Amino acid sequence: MAIICSNCCSINEKEFSFCTNCGYPLQNQLLTDAFNERIQQRTHLLFKAENAVLAARVVLYVMGSFLSMGIFFIFAESNTKYIVVLMALLLSGLFFFLAFWSRRNPFTAMLTAFIILIAFSAINIFGSLVKSFTTLTGFTGMLICLALLLVVLKGVQGAYRINLIKEELQVKI
Ligand SMILES: [Zn+2]
Repeated sequence: MAIICSNCCSINEKEFSFCTNCGYPLQNQLLTDAFNERIQQRTHLLFKAENAVLAARVVLYVMGSFLSMGIFFIFAESNTKYIVVLMALLLSGLFFFLAFWSRRNPFTAMLTAFIILIAFSAINIFGSLVKSFTTLTGFTGMLICLALLLVVLKGVQGAYRINLIKEELQVKI
């Protein structure tokens, strides 16, 4: 005698308590409820993780837009203006690319963005410290930098969780 799993339609031995394919309980209603509750919890976690990635993606788009304004530096009276403009546009393109790419591969994209951001934050924070800790702009810049880093870090964590949860729910979805 065989028993068919009501979740994935795999055929199991009659005496089995759980489906050998997806782990769905085959016998007990109580266990079925527990299983469904677990799925619900995972779906909720997935929703939260996806929101974290979304917030991080918005930050990347905002940074990309902000950096693209660096093109106006071309009118500045400076010897290094072309280098600054080039760097700003390159970074802008990079952030736009990462934001776009995070739809396909959220974890790798967010992790890359985080590493780039942390490198630039370190430079920025160090620079602000050297200039003077007391100036309001330096301090505000540091705070904004840290806040952006935090959002992107949450995005990295979210993307990581999405991968784990999706793997776990794969049989169901
Ligand atoms: Zn099953």
